[in-house]
Amino acid sequence: MSMRFYIHTMGCQMNEYDSELISGLLKKEGFEPALSSGEADIVLVNTCAVRELAAEKAYSYLGSILKKDKKSEQTVVMCGCVAEQDGAGALKRMNGIDLVVGPARIREIGRILKIFLKNGKRKDFTGDLSVDWKEDALIDRSSGEKAWVTVSKGCNSFCSYCVVPLARGREESRPAEDIIETAAGLIKTGYREINLLAQNVNTYGKDKKDAGGFPELLSKVAALEGAFRVGFKTAHPRDFSEKILEAAESSKKIMRNFHLPLQSGSDRILKIMNRGYDTKHYLEVAAKVRRLSGSSLTTDIIVGFPGETEEDFEGTLEMFARAAFDSAYMFKYSPRKGTAASKLGDSVPKGVKEERLARLMALQRKTGLASNKPLIGTVQEVLIDGATRSGGKVCGKTLSEKQVFFEAGKELKGFVRVAVASAGPFSLKGELVK
Ligand code: SF4
Repeated sequence: MSMRFYIHTMGCQMNEYDSELISGLLKKEGFEPALSSGEADIVLVNTCAVRELAAEKAYSYLGSILKKDKKSEQTVVMCGCVAEQDGAGALKRMNGIDLVVGPARIREIGRILKIFLKNGKRKDFTGDLSVDWKEDALIDRSSGEKAWVTVSKGCNSFCSYCVVPLARGREESRPAEDIIETAAGLIKTGYREINLLAQNVNTYGKDKKDAGGFPELLSKVAALEGAFRVGFKTAHPRDFSEKILEAAESSKKIMRNFHLPLQSGSDRILKIMNRGYDTKHYLEVAAKVRRLSGSSLTTDIIVGFPGETEEDFEGTLEMFARAAFDSAYMFKYSPRKGTAASKLGDSVPKGVKEERLARLMALQRKTGLASNKPLIGTVQEVLIDGATRSGGKVCGKTLSEKQVFFEAGKELKGFVRVAVASAGPFSLKGELVK
């Protein structure tokens, strides 16, 4: 019988993509998937290092499987950003971990495992390597009718708080023809939503002479035949180009959610964060996005960055209200090892961070509700999201990525039309238009 593997995924869409890729690569090598870590011969934990808590969660999950399930013959592999950051340190910290494989090395996972199964030598495989994008064709997708397609790996921005450039290396764009071919294949096999994924889509192609920019790539994907739509994440406000709006304007298939992380509404803090824009620039970009009909603007905010004063934070509240974000991911700052900001300490007390986060969340409820209310009475084309059926209701997403709940049979799939009847701060409710 073949050896069986189980993957536990933590963190962002990039990790979800990587886990699907690991699964495809292992199946190609003859391994079979298991339903739980207890049944598996090989357990892979794809970790996230974006916040201190996330990294500790990774170790505590590993600790729990090592206690519960680890049989002497079971192989435990730590992958993802914590693996890259801690390298051999992870092997020292936990005896039960056999292999440590950073994000740039996962395309070698089959070979690495086969060598380990022969020689039993615990080892870390980290470091930034150029990616062989051909391996991505083997991806084993498990995300319903939605598919992530990575368009570049790594990041060159070095925001002072962020581990991504340290954990995922320098930016490297995937060839455009490879992306288009992958998207065309997915659409043919029935995928209805293609999400182009990068740490910063706006710099796509800058490392390659003939790759073209992201707006061109987006338009080419949108021009493919079939009933689908195409979205993208994430866009750095510093590199925002109006061409992306022109592309969206000219195609009904391009999704209208712009996720532009603001991070702080204080110019002083933005400078220390090394974000490369100020609040004036951000508001100009936000105004352009708002001029595109049916668009939504979402963001990420960090509260309690080292040295953040009450005045700085009030700047964030003001910016949040002026940009009138549809929704936001908001986090309390925690220092990450190896980043420039980690040298600044963690001066804002936990209680102050919590209080600021609560104020921001209260504001988000207001701006979210205000952005959802105008949709009452409209009919939206919604893609059913199979993963989020709840309480007898079905959930779908509009072209601007707003969640809509409505009654429908479980068998219903694909695009439907929904009349929006009511709005809350985080979602809409409606009725299926037959
Ligand atoms: S743009 Fe900044 S925050 Fe985003 S991944 Fe790159 S370094 Fe991190």
